[in-house]
Amino acid sequence: MNNFFVILAAGNGSRFKTKQKKQYVLYKNLRLFEHSILKALKSKLFKKIILVADEPSKIKNVYSKDLIIIKGGKERSISSKIALKYLKKFKPKNVLIHDAARPDFSLNLIKKIINNLKKNKAVIPFINSTDSIKYKLKNNMYNLNKNKIFLTQTPQGFDFQSVYKLSIKDKNFVTDEASLFIDLDKKIKFIKGENKNKKITFTEDIKKNINYLGLGFDIHRLILGKNLYLGGIKIPFHSGLKGHSDGDVILHAIIDAILGATRRKDIGTYFPNTKKFKNIRSPKMLRPIIDNLSKLNIIINNIDINLICEKPKVSKYRNKIINSISKIININKDKINLKGKTVEKLGLIGKEKAIACEVIVSITKYD
Ligand code: ZN
Repeated sequence: MNNFFVILAAGNGSRFKTKQKKQYVLYKNLRLFEHSILKALKSKLFKKIILVADEPSKIKNVYSKDLIIIKGGKERSISSKIALKYLKKFKPKNVLIHDAARPDFSLNLIKKIINNLKKNKAVIPFINSTDSIKYKLKNNMYNLNKNKIFLTQTPQGFDFQSVYKLSIKDKNFVTDEASLFIDLDKKIKFIKGENKNKKITFTEDIKKNINYLGLGFDIHRLILGKNLYLGGIKIPFHSGLKGHSDGDVILHAIIDAILGATRRKDIGTYFPNTKKFKNIRSPKMLRPIIDNLSKLNIIINNIDINLICEKPKVSKYRNKIINSISKIININKDKINLKGKTVEKLGLIGKEKAIACEVIVSITKYD
């Protein structure tokens, strides 16, 4: 096992528009380059793993004593050359050179490359293009047969001595080491790469959307002679809901569900029983919560509501209530569901002395 793994992570990633350099951006909960380190370690196929970084001092080696972090150059080919020169003293048999921007290769691919290095000096994974490709030569365009187009990936595996000699002599700033072999007509063993082994190039490649759920519950006592508000609208009924506000159990449960999904405590935190909120209408409580969602780049996927009461009959007001909620929250009606539940005349709710409501909401946070 005289194999070494080189991870190139010194690039600038100019097509990547974030404050951080691409290799430090979080992807699937790890910094981009960490995926390659952890996979190389897990494979147990390498004596040493060399991480070539732009600022080695900024990366704490919490991974393994077999990881060495060295400073790279301005161009990929310079970083690669620096790594190969550094490795010379270890007298490697094989070296795999990999771009940190490809975090999704499999352990199987590494194994295949190393196996193929037994009989070959250069082993390069490739995939075919799924796009149609044209080639421009002077003013003429030519169609290329996409089945004969090889899109080369990394890791690329080499007999150390062979790639070292070619790299030292190279002055062309090649974009991968396979190019060195091709330029000099040296033999390459091409093996099937992996579609999922994509290069993270543009900011949008790395955007992640995270889903959350939130649960809300509310109950208010019914009292005679008060207006009944459910879902933001007035419902004709002999009693209304008692509360510091208008007692709208549906909107209150929605507020708590959203606060739950966004991990922002509960309705009482934002609307305590103070003079300021005395007799407040519940849409006025819900709206600022919704406004805050758009600021946080969060959208609501759906809302499911159980209204628990003997009367009024939910089926009679379902559409009106859903319409009202859809307007307050500014989401499509088909994302809201309202179910009516009776309680077999049991307890306070069964005796029409209270109305309860439970809500579950699903949200997505976009990066
Ligand atoms: Zn309430």
